[in-house]
Amino acid sequence: MTPLEDAQEFVLGSCPPKPPVKLRREDANGLVLATAVVSTEVVPPFDNTAVDGYAVRSADVATAATDPVELIVAGEIAAGAAPDRPLEAGQAIRIMTGAPMPEGADAVVMVEDSERLGLDDEGVERVRLSATVPPGAAIRGAGDDVGIGDEIFAAGTTITPAVQAVLASVNASQVEVFPRLRVAVLSTGDELIDDGSPLELGQIRESNKTMLAGMLAETGCDVVDLGVVRDDEAELERVLRSAAETCDAIVSSGGVSMGDYDVVKAVLGRIADMTWMQMAIKPAKPFAFGTLDGPGGDRVPIFGLPGNPVSSLVSYELMARPALRRMMGHARLTRPSLVAVADADFRRNADGKVHFARVNGDFGDDGRYHVRPVGAQGSHQLAATASADAMAVIPDGDGLAAGSDVAVLLLHQPA
Ligand code: AMP
Ligand code: MG
Repeated sequence: MTPLEDAQEFVLGSCPPKPPVKLRREDANGLVLATAVVSTEVVPPFDNTAVDGYAVRSADVATAATDPVELIVAGEIAAGAAPDRPLEAGQAIRIMTGAPMPEGADAVVMVEDSERLGLDDEGVERVRLSATVPPGAAIRGAGDDVGIGDEIFAAGTTITPAVQAVLASVNASQVEVFPRLRVAVLSTGDELIDDGSPLELGQIRESNKTMLAGMLAETGCDVVDLGVVRDDEAELERVLRSAAETCDAIVSSGGVSMGDYDVVKAVLGRIADMTWMQMAIKPAKPFAFGTLDGPGGDRVPIFGLPGNPVSSLVSYELMARPALRRMMGHARLTRPSLVAVADADFRRNADGKVHFARVNGDFGDDGRYHVRPVGAQGSHQLAATASADAMAVIPDGDGLAAGSDVAVLLLHQPA
């Protein structure tokens, strides 16, 4: 049996990052920057007010907190408008959040600290201000978020919606990123039914492809669904060759275990450079990895996951997901891990394998993550595993007693 780490290292070695591409920032959510972004603009682009209120000279309101002052309202500046006059001593200019500060003003008094006095007999408008503000109060200075020449995002940054927003704020319309992978997914097996028709004895409903398509999407890949391929060599060969022409990677489930009817093995053995593994883990012991000829001499990886649904999930998590992340330029390949507390016994027999028990977990009052097994742990019992939050790593031996420390891989962020 191959230790998991050896298998992972081997697979990762054959899945280098794809060459970077230039994309519109709108199309880059979830992708990884291949080159740093340096700003060519300042944010904010001008000094502006952080509040609705009155732009003033702070000296004019020096006593206002104890002795309110009345100032002439010399104008109004809305967000988007430019000031049309400088502020003179004894004046205030009504100003809305985001509007540029007028020349001559050095602070803003919030609208909450003002009282409109209306027009006097000469048609002059006045405001009473009842707050003292220091110079600079409520002003957001030009460039206090981003300056020209700032490296705002380093290479390797994962683009999130907030990163896209910052790119928009500095007018960076294109980014150089590792491309989103197009990944083909297929299931193999004559027993699989995916059209809702009644099951005959021996048939089961296809479920892995549904799961793997969703997992691929969660990994950030575009999914190409190749459906269920019957145990037919010519058909499987045609589907795989065409997938290798049009996709960056292929994920298949079924047909890789020891006793399998050898259609998948025969075809892959012929058209791909394959390694068939028995990994020292449970579930998901059988695993196949290889590469096919793609366009322009590219090698297209194929991940042959076992058919048992829980094994398929675990195999995807441990083998396919890290490799696909590497191809998309991520530095962090695996799920976050932590040392949790076993809230139940994790008994097992020594068998030379590391067991990945699917668990539910919560953070306790002690600040630690506490885990207990989801009900059924059989590799065909996906119903129980489907609600798992994490996988607990139970080393070879006779298991762990309740209260022990146990390493876990978080499958989801704790709510
Ligand atoms: P295999 O890896 O092809 O030997 O399949 C192992 C077990 O998983 C068998 O019981 C299959 O019927 C089942 N299986 C294989 N593929 C799928 C699938 N796509 N959906 C659900 N069960 C599957
Ligand atoms: Mg099969």
